[in-house]
Amino acid sequence: MVDPASDKDFLTRLARNRGVARVFISHFHEDHQKYNYLFPEAHFHVPAPEAAAFTSMEAIFDLMGLEDPRYLEYWRETLVREFRFRPLKNLTPYEPGRLFQNGEVILEIIRAPGHTPGHSCFLFPHQELIFLADVDLSPFGPWYGDAASDLDALEATLDRLEHIRARTYLTAHEQGVFTPEEFEMGLAHFRRVIRDREARLVELLKTPHTLSQLVARRLIYGKVKEPPFVYDHIEAQMVDKHLERLLRRGVIISTPQGYVVAG
Ligand SMILES: [Zn+2]
Repeated sequence: MVDPASDKDFLTRLARNRGVARVFISHFHEDHQKYNYLFPEAHFHVPAPEAAAFTSMEAIFDLMGLEDPRYLEYWRETLVREFRFRPLKNLTPYEPGRLFQNGEVILEIIRAPGHTPGHSCFLFPHQELIFLADVDLSPFGPWYGDAASDLDALEATLDRLEHIRARTYLTAHEQGVFTPEEFEMGLAHFRRVIRDREARLVELLKTPHTLSQLVARRLIYGKVKEPPFVYDHIEAQMVDKHLERLLRRGVIISTPQGYVVAG
């Protein structure tokens, strides 16, 4: 079982009939483990860099960079009520490159950080199939809205995944199943979205803007989404990843009036 968060009835039947012994989770996000509780007897394999987030809500909040008390309270409640968060037992952290075998099926852990620090893909070499998790190739583009998300690492992940040959590419959201050609187009689209977001930001920074002014422009989501304190946080995190590297590259500078294009 991989990321048990899809169809509840199907997973319930699977849990009842198939004796699921191992569950592999791609990263700590709640929408990838909503139905963990259906597999109380299983052994859970989780990415080592974020293993703490499977047993502690505080570790989740740290990775997300949550500080706003409204968001903290809202998320604490949501994790318990909607996602049935409880500390996972039978937990073993995995490292990239690790191989697991079950009969003729081999699962290889592929390092794919950026979305989160431990985000991993699962390659099934004999089936020529890879589960890309949240490298989901969606029209929206890549998501890097946690404090622990890393834009440069994400781009390096896209470069690395490009060299993995498979017949079938699976994602956790949206289209879900991709041919090799669609996968290539999806990767190109992801890179283009990152470039476009950055270009729109640089365009805005021809005049000085503070981070909160930029957040109000909804550069990433394009519209106001509810609840605002959640999307303010995500917008700020994602815009900030771009600001950080534009500062590092000397494209923009920080002034008392806000960030502005250098020179
Ligand atoms: Zn995710």
